[in-house]
Amino acid sequence: MKRVLICEDEESIRDFVVINLNRAGFETLEVASGEEALAVVVTRKVDVALLDVMLPGMDGFEVCRRLRETDQEMGIIMLTARTQEAEKVNGLMMGADDYVTKPFSPSELVARVDALYRRVEAMRRNGERENAASALLEEMASGPFTLDLRRRVLKRDDKIFELTQMEFQILEYFFSNPGKILSRTSILHRVWGESYYGEEKIVDVNIRRLRMKIEENPSEPRHLMTVWGAGYKWNA
Ligand code: CA
Repeated sequence: MKRVLICEDEESIRDFVVINLNRAGFETLEVASGEEALAVVVTRKVDVALLDVMLPGMDGFEVCRRLRETDQEMGIIMLTARTQEAEKVNGLMMGADDYVTKPFSPSELVARVDALYRRVEAMRRNGERENAASALLEEMASGPFTLDLRRRVLKRDDKIFELTQMEFQILEYFFSNPGKILSRTSILHRVWGESYYGEEKIVDVNIRRLRMKIEENPSEPRHLMTVWGAGYKWNA
């Protein structure tokens, strides 16, 4: 079952989202607050969560942060009414995979949920295949770093860096292309899918978040390098 959690306090928007997702074949769970969202995921498996930012009580960013503490696999999309780039970046830094700005069209929202759901599913299937066949590649190494393809974490010495789906896929792409400069567009297509209709900025935000995790000094990265006008490059 493809299950989406909708956390939105405005009933009219929630209804509109639920109707459109149901029509597209998704099962939906609805809640009106972040506290309820956190309670629901304890007992129900959720593939994708849609989190409104402005909620009574705990805001959507905090819900996102807490969901990520226990679940790196779930897809998370922030619903934001705010247009400020800083706010979007803030949400993504908390571990969201994507954001949709209100007002949105039903077809856009469904397409974004569907794209993320496919990514989450594909990752799960890969995980199962790898668990079943021990002969398959388990790790990819690059300098002092090891990408653990089963647990989907990055390791360096005895340090373990937990990764979201998107972060893991970005690193897997870099590790598979040693020394190559990867453009934002190619990263976007590889990780978010060819049909993704959001902005390329999502790539930059995820790179920033990865830098916060793995770089000693995120403002002067030594591993995830920006190549001006071309894209990004991984340096072990
Ligand atoms: Ca709201």
